[in-house]
Amino acid sequence: MSRIGVFICHCGTNIASVVDVTKVAETIRDIPDVVAAQDLKYSCSALGQGAIKTAIKEHNLDTVVVAACSPRMHEPTFMKCIESAGLNPYQFEMANIREQCSWVHADQEKATQKAIGLVKMAIAKAQNLVPLSITKMPVTKHALVVGGGIAGMQAALDISKAGYKVTIVEKNPSIGGRMAQLEKTFPTLDCSA
Ligand code: SF4
Repeated sequence: MSRIGVFICHCGTNIASVVDVTKVAETIRDIPDVVAAQDLKYSCSALGQGAIKTAIKEHNLDTVVVAACSPRMHEPTFMKCIESAGLNPYQFEMANIREQCSWVHADQEKATQKAIGLVKMAIAKAQNLVPLSITKMPVTKHALVVGGGIAGMQAALDISKAGYKVTIVEKNPSIGGRMAQLEKTFPTLDCSA
């Protein structure tokens, strides 16, 4: 049984002008495991992150869902935020209701319903999250390129130029692939082999 807090971002008018964020927060409040749901003007701002940290303490949250922009933009921001509040950073899930919803839809009612669906899916995933820890493994800095055609040979050369050892393997007796079967190549008419 998780204790999930869900935060719905307005992003100023970026999201709130199309999606009824208050309605999203009200709708998902009754989902099992959701113990806190609120909308925030700018979730990634110092004020927004402060509100998330306060809610973590007040509601004893163990998992956080933020419905906002793309995870590519602010997932690390929120992972650091919840970690600083004492949670495992991987107890976090993000729903993209900006790029995948408010920015691509004009119909408010339908966009709000879609946002509710996206947030519900994020909550369903959050209910199954487990705390993770970062493990560091020693890595042998040696690349294996499978296939000695033009692409394989060029990849092997690029890797070796970057300073790494490379082993290239080819199933045929000679390298060169299809290129070696051609006589000349346009536009220089160089000998392919
Ligand atoms: S978290 Fe994303 S959607 Fe929310 S205010 Fe920041 S940039 Fe905008």
